[in-house]
Amino acid sequence: MNYYGEAVTKLIEELGRLPGIGGKSAQRLAFHIINGSEENAEALAQAILEAKRTIRLCPVCCNLTDGEICEVCKNPNRDGGLIMAVESPRDMAAYEKTGEFKGKYHILHGTISPINGIGPDKLKIKELLKRLDGSVREVIIATNPNVEGEATAMYLSGLLKPLGVKVTRIASGVPIGGSLEYVDDVTLSKALEYRTEM
Ligand code: ZN
Repeated sequence: MNYYGEAVTKLIEELGRLPGIGGKSAQRLAFHIINGSEENAEALAQAILEAKRTIRLCPVCCNLTDGEICEVCKNPNRDGGLIMAVESPRDMAAYEKTGEFKGKYHILHGTISPINGIGPDKLKIKELLKRLDGSVREVIIATNPNVEGEATAMYLSGLLKPLGVKVTRIASGVPIGGSLEYVDDVTLSKALEYRTEM
């Protein structure tokens, strides 16, 4: 029902499309925006558009960036011989927060999930293979320790090992079925330290 007029209904609808936002939350957010100042509404709309228009994938590691290549790839103090493959930019951010990892990353943008119709071709695996030009000693697979994450790790390991690169998997101080982005820094650091060769 169109209780609030078309514009508000549309706003609630759009907000409701965001992940984790149910109908009630969408209403609450919509009324918060409407009751706020025009400047605040404008700033929010601009920030959304600006992010969408300027952010793209780093051509090396597939991280999000607003530059030519991302800050990690650009940094000459990072060890390019060590690549950590993660599912998402958020998982990368979680590891960056620990300050323990001095290598570079590769963002896969998902996991293999046959149930959801996501095959290896949907992930940034080609881009990872392109980086293995002999300068990379080790690839650490840091996908989440759940069914899809493990399947992806196995697939990658099978693909990478024949290329003569050392493949390791983060240790599971990370809880099985868990999500890296919610794990504390110490556990993440330990999982990295005690990684095992695949
Ligand atoms: Zn990059």
